[in-house]
Amino acid sequence: MESTGQKLTVYKAGQVINATGAAPIANGAVVVEGRKIKAVCPAADVGNLDGAETVDLGQGYTLMPGLMDIHLHLSAHNALTFNNYRIAHAELPPERQELYELLHAQIMFEMGFTTLRAHPWPNMFAGHNSACVCAVRDAFATGIFAGPRMIAGGYATMTGSHLDLISPRSMRREPDATADGPWELRKLARKQLRLGVDFIKTCASGGGGTDAEEPEIRNMTQEELDAVVDEAHCQNKHCSCHCFTPFTQRMAMQAGVDTIEHCVFTDDDAIEQLVKTGTPIIPTLLHRTDWSIDIRRTMGTSEFTLSKMKRIQPYTEATFKRFLAAGVTIAMGTDTQLEPYMGSSAKELEIYVKFGMDPMAAILTSTRNAAKAIWVDKITGTLVPGKFADMIAVAGDPLKDISILSEREKIALVMKEGRVWVDRRPGFPRRGVINDQDWGWKKLY
Ligand SMILES: [Zn+2]
Repeated sequence: MESTGQKLTVYKAGQVINATGAAPIANGAVVVEGRKIKAVCPAADVGNLDGAETVDLGQGYTLMPGLMDIHLHLSAHNALTFNNYRIAHAELPPERQELYELLHAQIMFEMGFTTLRAHPWPNMFAGHNSACVCAVRDAFATGIFAGPRMIAGGYATMTGSHLDLISPRSMRREPDATADGPWELRKLARKQLRLGVDFIKTCASGGGGTDAEEPEIRNMTQEELDAVVDEAHCQNKHCSCHCFTPFTQRMAMQAGVDTIEHCVFTDDDAIEQLVKTGTPIIPTLLHRTDWSIDIRRTMGTSEFTLSKMKRIQPYTEATFKRFLAAGVTIAMGTDTQLEPYMGSSAKELEIYVKFGMDPMAAILTSTRNAAKAIWVDKITGTLVPGKFADMIAVAGDPLKDISILSEREKIALVMKEGRVWVDRRPGFPRRGVINDQDWGWKKLY
């Protein structure tokens, strides 16, 4: 191997999962040079590298790419402080949301998530909110704070859209919080893009999380949706679309959206088109569990909304199983937001496995597939030479027990761009980027 003069480190472990779809490498090694991966191979094939440091993690460890959650709302907040989560929308200024976002991203980072696609939190400060997401992204990218790679989003939705209705009806909005008609929506998307967002999020259907709407209703006309997607694409940005119904899944595919979120309901025709187009689905199943519903109850969500969440629960399982059987592309996202379970996103993978997905395929949803879905697959998402060394070491074998990816103490190393930010191996002091204590949401808020 030729050297470029940058620091070389050889990481060895009992198993390396490169997340390309290939079988794991037993007794594998990942050679990191500076910020990038130089080689991934059996440890015996590394040979002698002049001046290289060797970190031998041992048989019990698995090296794999850093995880990604590509649907979460970092700037949401603990609404218990305000007793009712809809009231909290009117209480929290974006400056404070920005700080939650920083903290939440760091919690995710400590749990092995080296890339996050952050949807902002809808409120009356629409533009300001997107600017906050971008600021946190840039603070991590420039090293002001330790944190993951972030892909930041901005909203372009119609008046009375699913996201608009999350805020109370009579609350005053900024004039450009929503827009109607293709040209107004283009302008809204352009304003978001001017702020520096990496993708546009829009909605084609109602949703489950508000008091004021049914999930089956349509948001936007085809012409409006086409306009939003076209604006994102013409600036080389991608577009994510919230869809609960097969009709809106078809609208989204016709408009050329890049990721379809949730998909609670579907039908054979939509599934056939999803397979044909390869459009990735982001299932967000963690957000549908009893666990999540119970947490939302303690956070002040109304019983009316909770019962709606409960009602759609069986459809989410059935739809996921149909997607899986048909070969629809799945990329991992959780919709983690208001609930104090930030950092638990790998539990989404446990649900995929419980519903019949092979554990390796589940890992691919949160690495290779996620990177491709959000257009960062040229730089990260798999362990292959030339990509950034965004990597974790896990104590144990996630192919045998996927739940270890949710156990903080088992996330032994977290590396972003070749630098180790967390090292929880026995005897190593760098336990996290927030502090050395075990964090918990009650203490944090
Ligand atoms: Zn969401």
